[in-house]
Amino acid sequence: MTAQNDPHDDLHARHRAVLPDWLALYYDRPLEITHGEGRHVWDAEGNRYLDFFGGILTTMTAHALPEVAKAVSEQAGRILHTSTLYLDRPMVELAERVASLSGIPDARVFFTTSGTEANDTALLLATAYRQSNQVLAMRNSYHGRSFSAVGITGNRSWSPSSLSPLHTLYVHGGVRTRGPFAGLDDAGFTAACVADLEDVLGQTHGNVAALIAEPVQGVGGFTSPPDGLYAAFRETLQQHGILWISDEVQTGWGRTGDHFWGWQAHDAAGPPDVLTFAKGIGNGMSIGGVVARAEVMNCLDANSISTFGGSPVTMAAGNANLAYLLEHDLQGNARRVGGLLLERLRAVSAGLGVVREVRGRGLMIGVELVLPGTDAPSPEAASIVLETAREGGLLIGKGGGHATASVLRIAPPLTLTVAEAEEGAAVLERALRAAETELGGTPAP
Ligand code: PMP
Repeated sequence: MTAQNDPHDDLHARHRAVLPDWLALYYDRPLEITHGEGRHVWDAEGNRYLDFFGGILTTMTAHALPEVAKAVSEQAGRILHTSTLYLDRPMVELAERVASLSGIPDARVFFTTSGTEANDTALLLATAYRQSNQVLAMRNSYHGRSFSAVGITGNRSWSPSSLSPLHTLYVHGGVRTRGPFAGLDDAGFTAACVADLEDVLGQTHGNVAALIAEPVQGVGGFTSPPDGLYAAFRETLQQHGILWISDEVQTGWGRTGDHFWGWQAHDAAGPPDVLTFAKGIGNGMSIGGVVARAEVMNCLDANSISTFGGSPVTMAAGNANLAYLLEHDLQGNARRVGGLLLERLRAVSAGLGVVREVRGRGLMIGVELVLPGTDAPSPEAASIVLETAREGGLLIGKGGGHATASVLRIAPPLTLTVAEAEEGAAVLERALRAAETELGGTPAP
C-alpha cells in the first residue's frame, strides 16, 4: 500500500497536520490502539501486545476491567454530570475512601481531572496557606506541564517552558546513582541531601511555602532515594513551617508493592501535609485529586475551583476500581510479581554492557541504558529496545534525566501474572541484546 491509501499512514499524517508538533508519538510507525483486555492491547492492524506501560500507569488494574466498565456504563446511563453545586454521592463515597486510606489526619479531598491539576491545586493551597510563592522541588522531578507545574519540574527535558509564577529552588535527593552524591551509602547520602536542603534554605528569606517531591521519580527514570530521606527532610522543613507535598501520581495505590503510598517508605515522617494523586485510580478515567488536613485545604476563599472534578461518571470508575484493587490485594501482587520481574530482568541484563542498572519497587521498574563500554546515557539504546520490544509484542515506556530518555520504564497493570512477567522479560532480553549488538557491545553468551 502507498502512504496515500494506507489508513494508518493517513491517520498519522492527519495527526501531524492538526495536532501540535510537540505532541510526541512513540515508535517510528506510531501505534493506533483500538482495544484492550487484561494486560493486553490490540492495534488497528490486529497485532496483540503485552502492555508493560499501561498508558503511563493510567491503566492501573486491567484493560476493560468488567467491574469498572459496568460501573461507568450504569452511571453514564443515569447521568454523566451536572455540577459540584449539587450533592454527588459517588464523589462523597470516593472521598471517604481516599481520606481514610491517605493516612492524613482530619483529611479533606478535592478531586480534579488530572495529576497536573492536582499539583496546581496543591500549590494553590500551599502558597495561600503560607502566603509565599517560594517552593522547593527536587532536581530531575516531573509534576506536569501547566504554567505552575513546569515551574516545579526540575527535569528540563520534560519541561517545555522555563517561565513560572513560582520562585522555585531545587534540592538533591531524587536521584541516587548519578550526581555529586553518587556512591555514598544510605546514611551518607541522606546526610548530604539534608545539608544541601539546609544550605538552600539559608539562601531564602525564610518563608518557603512547601517542598514537593515524588517518592519515586517517575518520568525521571524510576529512581528512589534511600528510605527515610523525607523523614530526615521533614525535621528541617517543620522547623521552618514548610509543608511537605507528596506527589503520588505514579507511586500511589500500592504500585510500589511494599507500600500503599510512596511516602510510607519514609514512615517515621508520618503522612505528608498534602498528597496528590491521579492516573491509576480511574483505571483510565480522568481523575486526579488532592488530600490535605482540613486546616490547609480550607485556607482558600473559594466556592470551588473546578467544573469537572468529581464528575459522577469518573467517581463511579474510581469507586469500582478501588474496591477491586483492595479486594484482590493488588498491592501484594505488585510486590510478588514485581519482585520476580525485577530479579528476572537483573538476570537477563547480567553481562550486557548496555544496561547500567535495573532498579525498582513493586511494579515500577527502571532499566537504565548506556552506550556499551561507557557511562554515557544512551537514548539510542532505549529507542532500539522500544522498537524491538514492540516487534516482539511488548509495550514499554522510556524516561530519565540528564536531558535524555535512556531509562526503560516498566509499569504494567497491577493484575500482571507471573507467566506474563516471564513472557515480557523474555521479549526484553531479546530487545536488550539487539541494542547491545547494534551499539557495538558484545553480549555475553
Ligand atoms: N506528577 C507525576 C509524578 C507524574 O508522573 C505526572 C504524569 N506523568 C503528573 C504529575 C501529571 O499528571 P497528568 O499527566 O495526569 O496531568
